[in-house]
Amino acid sequence: MPHLLNNFDRTLANWADANGLPGYRCRQVRKWLFEKRASDWQEMSDLPKALREKLAAELPIWSSTIAKHTTADDGTEKLLLTLAGGGQVECVLLRDGRDRREAGRRTFCVSSQVGCGMGCVFCASGLDGVERNLTAGEILEQFLLLQRLLRPDERLSHIVMMGMGEPLANVENVLTALGEASREDGLGVSARRITISTVGLPPAIRRLAELDCRYRLAISLHAPNDELRTEIVPTNKKVGVHAILDAADDYYAQSRRRLTFEYVLLAGLNDQPHHAKQLARLVGDRHALVNVIPYNPVAGLPYETPSAAAQQAFRKVLTDAGVPIRFRHRKGDKINAACGQLRRNAAKVVSLETN
Ligand code: SAH
Repeated sequence: MPHLLNNFDRTLANWADANGLPGYRCRQVRKWLFEKRASDWQEMSDLPKALREKLAAELPIWSSTIAKHTTADDGTEKLLLTLAGGGQVECVLLRDGRDRREAGRRTFCVSSQVGCGMGCVFCASGLDGVERNLTAGEILEQFLLLQRLLRPDERLSHIVMMGMGEPLANVENVLTALGEASREDGLGVSARRITISTVGLPPAIRRLAELDCRYRLAISLHAPNDELRTEIVPTNKKVGVHAILDAADDYYAQSRRRLTFEYVLLAGLNDQPHHAKQLARLVGDRHALVNVIPYNPVAGLPYETPSAAAQQAFRKVLTDAGVPIRFRHRKGDKINAACGQLRRNAAKVVSLETN
C-alpha cells in the first residue's frame, strides 16, 4: 500500500481518479491534514461518512507509531517513533519565549535518517552507524505528528533539520519533505525559517545552491582547523574545512541567507581561547553567526561540558573579535533532547528486557 505522505498529491489524486472523486475533495483532505491537524480520516467531517470509511480502509495516513512521548518542564516535547519501514527516530517540539504560554517561537526538530553515518565522536546518533535514509513521507510525518502536539492557539514557526542523521546524505527526500513544509497550503513555514544543519558535504551544498533553495544552512564545524576537526568529526578527513567553507560561501552567494556555524564546546578539546581566536580568523569575515552549543553529555562517552568560566572565556574572544555569536540554550535536558539519546535509552531498555 502506498504511504500517502510520501507523495501526497499524486497518491491522493490517483486514488481520487480510481474512485471517481472530484478534485476539491483532495484539497479538503490537504486542509484537514496540514492546517486542521487531523489525526485520522474520521475527523474529516465535511467528507461523506462512507468516503471516510473507504479512505480509512484503503489509504492509511500514518506509517509510524509513537513509542514514547516525553514532556519537559520547559515545554519541550519529544516523540520517539517506531517506523513501519524499520528502526526508530526522534523528533522534538521546542517552545521559546519567556512565557511559553504566549504565542512565540515553536520549532520542530526532526530526523532525516535512522542512525547516522558521519561518526562525530561526541554524538549519540552515530554510535551505531546509519541504518537507512528516511523516506520523504517519514520526514513529513514527523512534522504532522509534532503539529498535533501544539495547542490550538500555537503555530509552528520554525523547522530545523537537527535530529538524527545527516540531512545532506538524504538530500532529495529532505527537500521533498521541506517542500511540503514551506508550501502555503502545506505547513506554511517560510524557507527563511527552515534550517538545514549539516556536517558539511560540499556536493550536496552545491546542489542546494543550484536548486536555488532559500533554506538557512548551518554547518557543524566544531573545530577551527583540519587536524582537530578530523579528530572530532572523522568524515572531515576526506573533505577538509576549506572545501566546506568554499561550498558554504557559494551557497551564501546564491541564497543571500546568513550562514551559521555550529560549534559544540567539548571541555579541554576545542574550548580553549586559542581555538576561539582561530575560529574568529576562519569565519570572521563571512558575516556568519557562530552558534555555540555546550556539550550535552551522552551516557558512556568520555566528553564533558566546559565550565561556565571556560564558556565565558570562549565567548569573550569571539565577541571581542566582532564575530556574532549565540549560545544555544539547552532545552529538554531531562528528557534527553540531545540527538539520539532517547532512542539509545529505549534500545537499552529493550535489550535489558529481552536478555
Ligand atoms: N548531521 C547534522 C545534524 C546533526 S544534529 C549535522 O552534523 O549538523 C545538530 C547539531 O547537534 C550538530 O551540530 C551536532 O553536532 C550537534 N550535537 C550532536 N550531539 C550533541 C551533543 N551531545 N551535545 C551538543 N550538541 C550535539
